[in-house]
Amino acid sequence: MKKTSKNRRNFIIQSSMAAGALSLGSSFILACNGKNKPSESNEGKAPAAKKDSLGIALVGLGNYATYQLAPALQKTENCHLAGIVTGTPSKEQVWMSKYDIPKENVYNYENYDEIANNDDIDIIYVVLPNFMHAEYTIRAAKAGKHVICEKPMAISVEECEQMIAACKENNVHLSIGYRLHFDPYNLKVSELGQNEVYGKVKKITGAHSFKLNDPHAWRAKQDLAGGGPLMDIGIYVLQGAIYTMGENPIEVSAKYGEVTRPDIFKDVEQSIDFTLKFPGGATAEATTSYYDTANFLRGEAEKGWWELKPAYAYSGIEGETSEEKLTYPPVNQQTLQMDDFAKCVMNNKKSKVPGEMGLRDMKIITSIYESADKKETVKINW
Ligand code: NAD
Repeated sequence: MKKTSKNRRNFIIQSSMAAGALSLGSSFILACNGKNKPSESNEGKAPAAKKDSLGIALVGLGNYATYQLAPALQKTENCHLAGIVTGTPSKEQVWMSKYDIPKENVYNYENYDEIANNDDIDIIYVVLPNFMHAEYTIRAAKAGKHVICEKPMAISVEECEQMIAACKENNVHLSIGYRLHFDPYNLKVSELGQNEVYGKVKKITGAHSFKLNDPHAWRAKQDLAGGGPLMDIGIYVLQGAIYTMGENPIEVSAKYGEVTRPDIFKDVEQSIDFTLKFPGGATAEATTSYYDTANFLRGEAEKGWWELKPAYAYSGIEGETSEEKLTYPPVNQQTLQMDDFAKCVMNNKKSKVPGEMGLRDMKIITSIYESADKKETVKINW
């Protein structure tokens, strides 16, 4: 039933919490320890744009682009919705009217590369099914446009490397749609964990699951999604574990769950459990599935604990620690994320959620699948 590892993978935060979270600096951002720092950076190379607000074109007008990103772009200060790329002609007029987009800023998948000649568009945001991320990011880079690419970054480590290389070659910035790096609750978790507020972290647990009932969904197809819930939503638990610890895991063991819907889960996993081991001995136990409903991230340290539940939602995240209930004013994660990237482009600064972070996660995901396929613990070499 399962594919083998071989064929599988081809803040503007509120001032009430700003001080603690921002003091985490780059350790939250990349969650790389000294050895694991990205070797490639386009920092200092891309030409800084000289506009007050950068134009973004959304590529792929599905659920996330329609119901989250476009509304979030109505609240941004450093960027705005300037164009669209869609393969569905009926969406063109709807989006043009709703968001006042001129006809010349509307593209399809065939004439996409002509966006190179459009000065209204500075940033391309790839919101397509996972298997299209690499191609549309690389084409955007070749068109000289900065790129935000949705998670998971691509469907293989090799693709992630090609995307980073293309952006570097073309002197454009690349960022991944890791919106929770702009959420105050998740930032607080990283502060509690990385600053050892309750002592050393000993154990992290987390789950992210929803019920996928559509047998035709691209998310259930290996060639389109690159994997099952791990690629789609388990990645948030993986991220949560890493930004709690501020370092990369060195070992993983994983196990596929039972397939109770063989009509849907023919070639991607229905569920998977994985345990990450960190250099100091801390562990993270995670579950992700397409047949259940779950959404939490918990940390246990020597002298206290914390938990977010839900942890990964667009809004309505709730949190508490062994000492207090956490309460932050609501934010629009995507507005903050896109404004931050636009500022990075303007100031020629590396994004705090760069391509290298997407690559890092893809390496770990690959190791998780390898462990589940081989039924053995896999060391992750950085
Ligand atoms: P979706 O299915 O709602 O939309 C996908 C879009 O791609 C549709 O407009 C569809 O027409 C278009 N498309 C083009 N070629 C396609 C093809 N061959 N097969 C299927 N669709 C094709 O998906 P979505 O939920 O909007 O997800 C899109 C991307 O955004 C995914 O990579 C997903 O992981 C990511 N996402 C991120 C978040 C987040 O919180 N960061 C949330 C949801 C989705």
